[in-house]
Amino acid sequence: MIIHLKPGIAKEKAENLAKELQAVLLADETKKILVTPSALKSVDSRFDDVVAEKFVFNDDLLLGSRQYRKKTREIRIGNILIGGDSGHTLVITGPCSVESETQIETMARLCVELAVKMLRGGAFKPRTSPYTFQGLGTAGSKLLSRMREKYGLKIISEVRDATHIEEIIEYSDVIQIGAKSMYDHGILRRCGSAGKPVMIKRGFGTLLQEFVQAAEFILSGGNENVILCERGIRTFENKTRFTLDLCGVSYLKEKTNLPVILDPSHAIGYAYGVPDLTRACIAMGVDGVIIESHPDPKTALSDASQQLNPDEFRKLYKSLAPVAKAVGRIIV
Ligand code: PEP
Ligand code: MN
Repeated sequence: MIIHLKPGIAKEKAENLAKELQAVLLADETKKILVTPSALKSVDSRFDDVVAEKFVFNDDLLLGSRQYRKKTREIRIGNILIGGDSGHTLVITGPCSVESETQIETMARLCVELAVKMLRGGAFKPRTSPYTFQGLGTAGSKLLSRMREKYGLKIISEVRDATHIEEIIEYSDVIQIGAKSMYDHGILRRCGSAGKPVMIKRGFGTLLQEFVQAAEFILSGGNENVILCERGIRTFENKTRFTLDLCGVSYLKEKTNLPVILDPSHAIGYAYGVPDLTRACIAMGVDGVIIESHPDPKTALSDASQQLNPDEFRKLYKSLAPVAKAVGRIIV
């Protein structure tokens, strides 16, 4: 249950109520909200004088549900707006991993050429094998931040564990929680108080319910700016790397109030399919797509098979506007 307390309730009283109901208390100057497990369906009448509004739920998708907030949350990333009434579909591109200054700068320049506003790049990579490239770490984060200063691009980068989360918060505009890290409660909880938008990726073996509950950890920590990212789940099929769950995307759009970004690159795992799949994603009417691109994909130190080269990305990017228009959206 979500309970909005009446204005003017003292903090101490709200804290006592939270303790009694085993609720999370969200409090700022203007509002105090209690969030309890969805199993709680009613509160005692002695609370009547403090309760302004109550919302009852069937499962633990609460703060992020459309039942609570009808409109998709509006998220501002500097001069970029997604969600709300914007009708924007944000295109993000850049390499899987930051590998060198020349590499990341080539992709930053491609963004500037095409007016793409957000650059991606991993500095701390959660790899499947410990023997492959693990990312440049802090040096990679600093290169991203240099691209932000030099080209005015917004940056999204992944946090692998809680040890370097402060650095990712400082050097990025959107914090990415990866598919392999979405169960890390150190990360989820710190992101709850990060004061920056967070994009959380669905694990490849994660139920939609578990996915939205992970997002609830960030929301219930007080961060209102959470974006969901579907990046493919594991099915019986192995000709493609994963299977992009577009049915799940429909569920997320229908049931949650959180913007949704799709990642066709990790879903299919092969560059040949990324253009068609990206257009299919755009046609889903989502809030964004994140596409891996690299100056010379065959030499990439991670995810070489799925990254587009600059010409492939240019061609794809130019084909997106009509698809977005057909579903009442504009590419930003
Ligand atoms: C990535 O974005 O490069 C990445 C590692 O993605 P995922 O967490 O979806 O595997
Ligand atoms: Mn990758």
